Amino acid sequence: MSALPSHLELVQGVVLPKPVGADPVLDFLNTRSDFAGRGPARSEWLTSYEAFVIWNGYVGLLSDASVFRLIEQAAVKPKDAAHRFDATLEFRADLYDVLTDAGAGGSFDAVARAVERATARRRLTAVPAVGLGLGAGWDLPEDLGLPLDQLALLAAGLLTGASRDHVRLCPGDACGWLFLDPRGRRRWCSMSTCGNRSKVRAHAARTR
Ligand SMILES: [Zn+2]
Repeated sequence: MSALPSHLELVQGVVLPKPVGADPVLDFLNTRSDFAGRGPARSEWLTSYEAFVIWNGYVGLLSDASVFRLIEQAAVKPKDAAHRFDATLEFRADLYDVLTDAGAGGSFDAVARAVERATARRRLTAVPAVGLGLGAGWDLPEDLGLPLDQLALLAAGLLTGASRDHVRLCPGDACGWLFLDPRGRRRWCSMSTCGNRSKVRAHAARTR
């Protein structure tokens, strides 16, 4: 059996890219490579609703127990899961447009609607405060819509927050991955993939 490239990991039987974005929303966008329009990706790691749920567990957005229950729900309602999966891929493409193209007004509207739908489904729930009285947290119902809704809310946080201006695009050939670069010192999505390829090319050019 051949070893996986160092930027990939086998998780519960699914090959997934290791997180490099320094933000789960960007790592969600990095679950495919080479976003040249909406055509087929050079690499696509979200191959099913189940793979999407397993990815959520891998990056810490869902607990192991939630991953297990959602995969069970998807087996009971495969059509619903397929529909949620299609919506997830659409949302990923729209959000990528928004982050990389200042003219992506139509995609922005689609992202905004997804955020509003997720916002309407969340509930403020009481949690005991450490000191006095009660605090609260936002909860989403644990159904097949949970992973996408949770990402839509996180995306809204990224778009409206201070991190938005630190999103960078990897210049590697056919890469297209995004990452946060708050100190302006990072060039590549990862040194072991795009950074290394560029080094090898530069070396080849020097010795030619
Ligand atoms: Zn790259």
